[in-house]
Amino acid sequence: MIERKALIFNVQKYNMYDGPGLRTLVFFKGCPLRCEWCSNPEGQLRAFQVMLRITACVHCGACVPVCPQGIHSISPITKQHEIDHSKECIGCRKCEAICPAQALAIAGEEKSISELMEIIEQDRMFYEFSGGGVTLSGGEAMMQPESVANLFLACRQAGINTAMETCGYARPEVVAKVAEVTDLFLFDVKHMDSERHLQGTGVRNESILENLRWLLDNRHNVKVRIPLLKSFNDGEAENLALRRFLEPYSGFRNFQGVDILPYHKMGVNKYTQLQWDYPQKGEPGLSQEDLDRVVSYYDGVGYPVNVIKH
Ligand code: SF4
Ligand code: SF4
Repeated sequence: MIERKALIFNVQKYNMYDGPGLRTLVFFKGCPLRCEWCSNPEGQLRAFQVMLRITACVHCGACVPVCPQGIHSISPITKQHEIDHSKECIGCRKCEAICPAQALAIAGEEKSISELMEIIEQDRMFYEFSGGGVTLSGGEAMMQPESVANLFLACRQAGINTAMETCGYARPEVVAKVAEVTDLFLFDVKHMDSERHLQGTGVRNESILENLRWLLDNRHNVKVRIPLLKSFNDGEAENLALRRFLEPYSGFRNFQGVDILPYHKMGVNKYTQLQWDYPQKGEPGLSQEDLDRVVSYYDGVGYPVNVIKH
């Protein structure tokens, strides 16, 4: 039998923010949203992508002949390295391996479930003493539901806690299937107003809120997360709308509260490496005063509301 492979772009160990205890994060590639502030742009496309640190490149041309797809070239006029992003990278990593300046990185790697389990199992001891486990991030793992289901089933069988960060944009049957093997959802709510949600992320929010409601109603463990941006979703109206939405679940044991994740600029240099424009044009950073104000919209809710600064 050919084992199913997941397309991932990173594995991060000893994470303390994305679920209980110490966690191994596995980043799945491909996402249905295009958030303007995305800090993992290399996770958006479900395809291999070439990333170049142009400041490290010495324009030697070693990557040119090894690429079977003809993606690299040295311009005869400028003598600079150029990348043809219209051609499909097949992820062979020959260019990455040959580059003497380590200027290239290929985003995307296919891993079988047993290969992922091998990586995850390496830190079993840490999960056991900290109450940790594995968290899927991305991108959006629910774009590869079969891989998620198989991986989480293997984790369950190995007694490893499973969590998933999600944008919540998936077909209801996918959410239901994945929920069977997921111990905790870290569920993003980016905006309660569908038009504003569309502007900021490229999709409307109705199906996302339906999925959130379904998970909460069906007693799946959920922590809601707000990626917070000044002048996008830090206003009273949208936060009170979310508060009202969550009110019925205040006493539910499976509803674990709200995490507020203030905007940061950590992903900006990855846009340069992908040769993409950074879509977030404003300055949506928040002061401590802004954060205190947003937290105050949730005064007295009866569930935990925390600000998580990465
Ligand atoms: S990974 Fe392979 S196909 Fe992709 S750019 Fe490098 S050499 Fe070309
Ligand atoms: S091999 Fe490396 S240093 Fe040489 S042109 Fe390619 S990316 Fe630049």
